[in-house]
Amino acid sequence: MSRLAHRTSVIDASGIRKVFDLARSMKDPINLSIGQPDFDVPPEIKQAAHAAIDAGRNAYTPTQGLGELREMLRADEKSFTGREWSEAETLVTSGVSGGLFLALLALINEGDEVIVPDPYFVMYKHLVRLFGGVPVYLDTYDAAFGIDPERLEKLITPKTKLLLLNSPANPTGRILSRSELEGVAEVCRRHGVLVISDEIYRHFAYTAMVSMAEIYEDTLVLAGHSKAYGMTGWRLGYACGPADVIGAMTKVQQYSFVCAPSVTQWAALAAPEVVLEPYIDQYRAKRDLMVGLLGGHFELGPPDGAFYLWAKAPEGFTGTSFVEKAIANNVLIIPGGVFSEKDTHFRICYTVPDDKLRAGAQVLCGLA
Ligand code: PMP
Repeated sequence: MSRLAHRTSVIDASGIRKVFDLARSMKDPINLSIGQPDFDVPPEIKQAAHAAIDAGRNAYTPTQGLGELREMLRADEKSFTGREWSEAETLVTSGVSGGLFLALLALINEGDEVIVPDPYFVMYKHLVRLFGGVPVYLDTYDAAFGIDPERLEKLITPKTKLLLLNSPANPTGRILSRSELEGVAEVCRRHGVLVISDEIYRHFAYTAMVSMAEIYEDTLVLAGHSKAYGMTGWRLGYACGPADVIGAMTKVQQYSFVCAPSVTQWAALAAPEVVLEPYIDQYRAKRDLMVGLLGGHFELGPPDGAFYLWAKAPEGFTGTSFVEKAIANNVLIIPGGVFSEKDTHFRICYTVPDDKLRAGAQVLCGLA
C-alpha cells in the first residue's frame, strides 16, 4: 500500500516538465517551449524591491495583501473592466497559480464538475482532479478555439460547479470576443454557474480584449504580474470576485501560503510607473514575424494574444510525433496533448530573439 495520499495518484508530472527535461539533454536547442517573457523585471520594480528590503519591509503582510496594493489593484480593475470591487472582494495571491489553487480548493466538493474548454492550461485539469473534482472538457477545435454557448449548455448538469475561462489563452493565443462572452454569460446566468476568468495574459492582447467581469456578475477574475512584468519567479497575482468566494479563499490562504511574498507586494506598487507598451509591441512584432514565416506551411489558430502560436501538425503526424521530429532537429516545442485530450497540434512560444525564431521556423517548415 502506498503511503502517499490517493489524491496524488490522480495527477501526473506536467508534460511541460518532461519537455524541459528533454531540453536539458539537448545541446544549445532552439527553444520555443518556454512560457515566459524573455525580458527582465523593469528597473522601476527592481528598485522598489531593493528599497523595500532595505527599509525592512520583510515581514508577513495581512493575509489579504497590503492595503495600499489592494487599493491600487481595485483602481486598475475599475479602469480595465469598469467593475468596482470592494475590499472584501479583493485578495492578493502568490501568482495566478496561487489564486487558482485557493479558488479551486475553496469551491470544489468531491464529484463536482468543472467545465474546462479544451485546449486548456495544464494546471486546470490537474488542480481540479487533485481537489476531487471532475474536469468536463468543452471541445473548441471546430469553434476556432472559441466557445459555442449551445455546446457549453449541453455540458451543464446539476453537478456543474464552475466554468474555467482563459482569454487571451494559453496555449491557443485566442481571445474570446464580446459576443462569445455574452453568449457564455447568458448560459451561465441561466444555470447559476460561477465563471473563473484567468486573465494573466490580458496585457498581451493584439486585438480588442474584454474581461468577463465586465459582462457577467458572477465572475472571479484572476490576474497577475508574472507575464506583464517579467517577474514569473516573484509570485504575485490577485483575485477579484464575489465576497463569499474571496472570503473562503482568504481562509485557505491563511493556513497555506499565509500571504503573497511581502517584498514582491511592495515592489508591485511601482508597477504604474512602468510603460508596458514597448514590451507588448515587441511581442506583437514577433507574432507577426512567426505568422508570416509559418502561415503558409501550417494551419494556425487565431493568434490574438498571449505569446503562443497553436499550430496543427502536418498530414501524417500526431502532435507528439511531429514534436519528436522537431526535437531530433534541435527545435524544442510542446506537443498539443499536454494541453488537450487530443494530440493533433503543437505549441510554439515566441518570446525568444528574432534570429532564433527565424532559425526555428526554417526547421519546422522544412519538416512540414
Ligand atoms: N494561467 C495561465 C493561463 C498561465 O499560462 C500561467 C503560467 N504559465 C498561469 C496561470 C500561472 O501564472 P503565475 O502563477 O506565474 O501567475
